[in-house]
Amino acid sequence: MTEKKLPFNQSQLAEIIRQYPTPFHIYDEEAIRKNVRQLLAAFSWAPQFKEFFAVKATPNPTILKVLREEGVGADCSSLPELILAEMSGISGENIMFSSNDTPAEEYRKAREMGAIINLDDISHIDFLEKHAGIPDIISFRYNPGPLMQSGNTIIGYPEDAKYGLTRDQIIAAYRIMQQKGVKRFGIHTMVISNELNPDSFIATANMMFDLIVDIHKEVGISFEFVNLGGGIGIPYKPEQQAVDLFYVGQGIKKAYEDKIIANGLHPLRIAMECGRMITGPYGYLVSTVLHKKEIYKNYVGLDACMTNLMRPALYGAYHHITVVGKENLPADHVYDVTGSLCENNDKFAVDRELPVIDAGDIVVMHDTGAHGFAMGFNYNGKLRSAELLLKPSGKVELIRRAETVADYLATLDI
Ligand SMILES: *Cc1c(COP(=O)(O)O)cnc(C)c1O
Repeated sequence: MTEKKLPFNQSQLAEIIRQYPTPFHIYDEEAIRKNVRQLLAAFSWAPQFKEFFAVKATPNPTILKVLREEGVGADCSSLPELILAEMSGISGENIMFSSNDTPAEEYRKAREMGAIINLDDISHIDFLEKHAGIPDIISFRYNPGPLMQSGNTIIGYPEDAKYGLTRDQIIAAYRIMQQKGVKRFGIHTMVISNELNPDSFIATANMMFDLIVDIHKEVGISFEFVNLGGGIGIPYKPEQQAVDLFYVGQGIKKAYEDKIIANGLHPLRIAMECGRMITGPYGYLVSTVLHKKEIYKNYVGLDACMTNLMRPALYGAYHHITVVGKENLPADHVYDVTGSLCENNDKFAVDRELPVIDAGDIVVMHDTGAHGFAMGFNYNGKLRSAELLLKPSGKVELIRRAETVADYLATLDI
């Protein structure tokens, strides 16, 4: 049986729970740091490589600070995300502000902070100029639509996505910016999500390098950076393989040599804005079994619910489950693992083969470090959990307290 490992044993976890009652998310700092270093090492050949962590994945300043210490910036797309980056000591061009349907005040804040603005539409040029002014450096988000020229891999259907500019528009947009006196340019795309095929990322890089060469020829501008987006998947299922970052780095290096260097466009900084692969595998949702019930199916009810982790209910996502202390028992029972919402899709797992579970058991959901806590909500009067950080020393730090009923009521005028 393949089993995913936990960064703590049963007695260490019991000790943590004594201090911080379940449910909570806990993040493994050492594993996050190691993983980031691997990503950076995979691109050490590049003139410069920058990872802008997608703040939406894990919007906690303590995590952002850990990442900043590793040289990582922030990818923001709202005012609060910009403020979280600021609170974490991430500033200026270490922030990329990727707009879409963005209000004026958010552009103003991004400009005030000196963040790199990445526009999502040609019509946003006038909007930005009117409300925040034209910055020194500008980036546009490319949507290749059905063009996907260099990809031999299927990377979704960008023509169905609301994001970015078409090829004709993006060329026109850079021309407009050039006429407005902008001298510094970047370009961005994000066409894949939770992708485990490493060749997809190399295909994206090839597509963007080709586009950079074409825009250089047609408009006469040079680019400082290309941002290839995020979307590196993680092996949620025990039998899946993590993306080989070194392979991706080497594939993109070859494309860089063939296209960027060969066309005299070196140096070009490479950027990514991964969220999921940076923190996802290193977060765990820890909960306690409250109830068992046996009707037409067998259910195990936790003290966590989909407000703590929405992915399974939202898109049927798989999150591996470990029943702590029962790792070596046979998975000879079949359960639906549920939360307490009055919503029948509030299930972390359906028909999951697990060892026998009893009330009081500790159940750990794996891979909740990204798009986990972050997607939380208060439906049914459920409160958001605490977030903890497992330090490299083995100590545990509370990095966000659990919500209280008073927090829930705080916005009411009573
Ligand atoms: C969500 C998002 C990301 C991060 O995606 P991951 O799948 O977490 O890597 C990066 N860039 C943009 C623009 C996004 O919307």
